[in-house]
Amino acid sequence: MQAKTIDGKALSARIRAEIAEKTEKLFNETGIRPGLGVILVGENPASVSYVTAKEKACAESGMVSRDIRLPADAGQDALTAEIRKLNADPSIHGILVQLPLPQGYDERATIAAIAPEKDVDGFTPVNAGKMLIGEDCFLPCTPHGIIKLLEFAGVETQGRHAVVVGRSNIVGKPVALLLARKGKNANATVTICHTGTPDLARFTREADIVIAAAGRPKTITGDMLKPGAAVVDVGVNRIPDATRQRGWRLEGDCDFESCSKTASCITPVPGGVGPMTITMLLWNTLESAARAARRA
Ligand code: NAP
Repeated sequence: MQAKTIDGKALSARIRAEIAEKTEKLFNETGIRPGLGVILVGENPASVSYVTAKEKACAESGMVSRDIRLPADAGQDALTAEIRKLNADPSIHGILVQLPLPQGYDERATIAAIAPEKDVDGFTPVNAGKMLIGEDCFLPCTPHGIIKLLEFAGVETQGRHAVVVGRSNIVGKPVALLLARKGKNANATVTICHTGTPDLARFTREADIVIAAAGRPKTITGDMLKPGAAVVDVGVNRIPDATRQRGWRLEGDCDFESCSKTASCITPVPGGVGPMTITMLLWNTLESAARAARRA
């Protein structure tokens, strides 16, 4: 069996075209243009490239982004002050603080300082809690993108067994919750695995759907999959590679070659989950601006 590749770029392009259209419509009808405030602390190269990609995607969708760069030693108070300014600014509908923060910053306090109604990453305790109890909220972008990818690939989740590898607050836990929700594109039976799981393969071999979010290359190999399983590879790992001009290449958490021989479909890295994460950020920013327009 050769797995079908789930093309995250193609799905992204389709959803972004819809977002751009709705953004223009919102502006024409209300004069409101969605605005995203992006805060980057320090100069971590991966973070710089993520922030650049997010701002470019904003501009392409007709949204405005406000770029705020702080030196790594700016300090927690300066960071919190910038978040408060964005909280109070009516032209800003979404706030994103690029993670991870440099050492010495309190990530939890930083996230908690973001006004929940502008929390387009869906990371604040208010949004996380609302998602847990099934209230309307901004869904976190990567987990939401994963659900969209499964739907796009025609993967049935209803009644299927999904194994999520990873239990972080930004990927593993929320995607497990979304898959276990009652309703469309959900209703799966979910197992969460982590470093405390003995014999990971015992669980992944039982899975109809595997979501790999461990942050470790080759965590999942083909022999760990049930034939025909659907695989979503969330991992982004920079592997040193002297044959590449930039000196590294990206790899996911799954060994693509062996997994492709057993799975029915699989997301590539790059070009799978990554573009969808940015797309769902735009989705939330547009939604936040539309809510602001309804309140006005
Ligand atoms: P994280 O906070 O480091 O969490 C990794 C999780 O995986 C932890 O729960 C850890 O278990 C578990 N884990 C690690 N090695 C494992 C193993 N061998 N077996 C079972 N579980 C294992 O990472 P994250 O923020 O969730 O991100 C995960 C990956 O996705 C990273 O590569 C990240 O770069 C990528 N990512 C991609 C996107 C995107 O848009 N494409 C977005 C977000 C993240 P413990 O809890 O026991 O330590």
